[in-house]
Amino acid sequence: MFGYDSFRPMQEQVVHHVTGGGDALVLMPTGGGKSLCYQIPALAREGTGVVVSPLIALMDDQVAALVQSGVNAACLHSGLEFDQVRAVEQQLLEGTLDLLYVAPERLLTPRMQQLLRQARPALFAIDEAHCVSQWGHDFRPEYMQLAVLGEQWPDVPRVALTATADPRTREEILERLAMPHAERFVSSFDRPNIRYRVAEKRNAKQQLKTFLEREQAGHSGIVYCLSRRKVDGLAAWLQEQGWTALPYHAGLPAEERRRNQERFLAEDGVIVVATIAFGMGIDKPDVRFVAHLDLPRSLEAYYQETGRAGRDGLPAEAWMVYGLQDVILVRQQIESSGADAQRRQVERGKLEDMLAFCERLHCRRQVLLSHFGETEHPPCGNCDTCLEPPESWDATEDARKALSCVWRTGQRYGVTYLIEVLQGSESERVRQNGHDRLTTWGIGAHLDAAQWKALFRQLVARGLLTVDADGYGALQLTEACRPVLRGEQSLTLRRDRRQRKASRRRLPG
Ligand code: ADP
Ligand code: ZN
Repeated sequence: MFGYDSFRPMQEQVVHHVTGGGDALVLMPTGGGKSLCYQIPALAREGTGVVVSPLIALMDDQVAALVQSGVNAACLHSGLEFDQVRAVEQQLLEGTLDLLYVAPERLLTPRMQQLLRQARPALFAIDEAHCVSQWGHDFRPEYMQLAVLGEQWPDVPRVALTATADPRTREEILERLAMPHAERFVSSFDRPNIRYRVAEKRNAKQQLKTFLEREQAGHSGIVYCLSRRKVDGLAAWLQEQGWTALPYHAGLPAEERRRNQERFLAEDGVIVVATIAFGMGIDKPDVRFVAHLDLPRSLEAYYQETGRAGRDGLPAEAWMVYGLQDVILVRQQIESSGADAQRRQVERGKLEDMLAFCERLHCRRQVLLSHFGETEHPPCGNCDTCLEPPESWDATEDARKALSCVWRTGQRYGVTYLIEVLQGSESERVRQNGHDRLTTWGIGAHLDAAQWKALFRQLVARGLLTVDADGYGALQLTEACRPVLRGEQSLTLRRDRRQRKASRRRLPG
């Protein structure tokens, strides 16, 4: 029916289990072939397989592809005419429909529920099941109500599918969908053809330009930024530089969004500059790169977003620049978000995981995979830290200087000012504050400003310093910095590439 020679890893087991009537949680990376896991059981079992999907925009395409393979599939969404809806409902009642795609809010309407009671559901497939997780960024309240499916149809198997699954989200999915007996099918989340790279952010735009020129000329790719304003600005700037770059964010008219997405799918060499609004369900096999100009909110988000590259299995790049300002910004956003304490704590944890990935001294893929529970992965040989192992340095002394400077100046200043004090600046501001009389004034002349900045960044990333949430970016000490300050703990940090060059230049001879 589908024209494949064999199953992909895990597909056969899931098909077997679900066809036999069992519930399943299917975790596979994007492109792993989740659809088949419910499509074949739907065909094999009597009745209609009901697929719940939040991606109304993609339903028509999916259905069209299925119909082409000879599957009797249809969807129900608000874009249909009354007559079309009637025709689909009729087929559902007659039991001639193999697969029915429907949005969750529609599935839960009394009308649909009644129809289904008269019809014969072969199974329920809940696609993008992580939408049920309140901690994820794709949370959809309607998903919470899908637990009723198990109450209404206890004998109909349910399959929850997702590509996002840290172990915590897994449990949350099963709990919220009330599927305690579901068997879990987890395939490896490794995407070996994607090369992960993280560089220190200096001039993000220029760095991106260099990356594109040197490595990605003529390629399709996605560039992610956090704000709509940045998306618009960057897309315009790239266009001026001669690239085919199109903006995509929720603030654009639907028509323009649709047009840009279609061009990206249809043409070669189109770059989409986007907020996270872009990408869920985008199935373009030859995306050669995904670039991040801002820090993603979590490793899951990063994994999802970079996972849109290289679905065809050919080499692809996940490229990111990141700097102290990103950390400060995200910290402030978390603290000023108005979320409750528990939620903020979760968000802080996610940021920490993300930072650990950025500041990693060893294989980045290991961090990513262990986040998804795969802890035994050997160094991959296809990330920047494997290919060019970063140097580390004993930063204990300098860290103590930096931390004391934060303390002596009253924990009220941002990085730029702290560096001025450390380097012994005689600026107006330093003198007026009397900080030129501090013992920490001028004790850091041996490092340049960029080196200090990198050090502060890593102190923040490691949680030895925190950023004042009120908006001025003042650095403050945390409990965790005490052992270092007291000299009880040493600190090994990553030497940034540029820092490395500078220190080489200073070597005698
Ligand atoms: P996911 O939903 O996990 O992102 P899909 O179900 O869309 O992945 O499948 C990804 C791609 O892999 C599709 O193009 C699909 O046709 C293809 N595919 C799925 N299963 C197989 C298989 N057993 N053999 C060959 N290709 C497959
Ligand atoms: Zn690696």
